[in-house]
Amino acid sequence: MEPTPSGQHGIRLHCDRCGYEEEYRRLLTTCPQCGWVTMPQYDLAALRQQPWTAQVAERERNLWRYRELLPVRHPEALRPMGEGWTPLFRAERLGAKMGLQNLYIKDERQNPSGSFKDRQAAVAIAPWWSRG
Ligand SMILES: [Zn+2]
Repeated sequence: MEPTPSGQHGIRLHCDRCGYEEEYRRLLTTCPQCGWVTMPQYDLAALRQQPWTAQVAERERNLWRYRELLPVRHPEALRPMGEGWTPLFRAERLGAKMGLQNLYIKDERQNPSGSFKDRQAAVAIAPWWSRG
């Protein structure tokens, strides 16, 4: 992830329990102050100014299209296996039963192992892939 000239990536990690915040520069899953889970917060205006956002639409259709938003240190070392970019299907009848006019279901069976877990697993091990 390349920082902007101002040093801002447009992503901050936030703790809902104690309010701790820091700019996303390291993998930090728990709050250093209270141990609660940190969550990313995205500054969309700052992200739009990142040079990579203009390239997203031209990239390969998979999870790694959005790699700058994921905890990956060396995206050049990734070996995509087709994770992500699974189809959305409109579920009209189920939506009608639920009182929803536009209900869509993401078909995660189209991932490499046929599981919705492929996305999380790919991101979880990405830092290991990209070492060295
Ligand atoms: Zn905290």
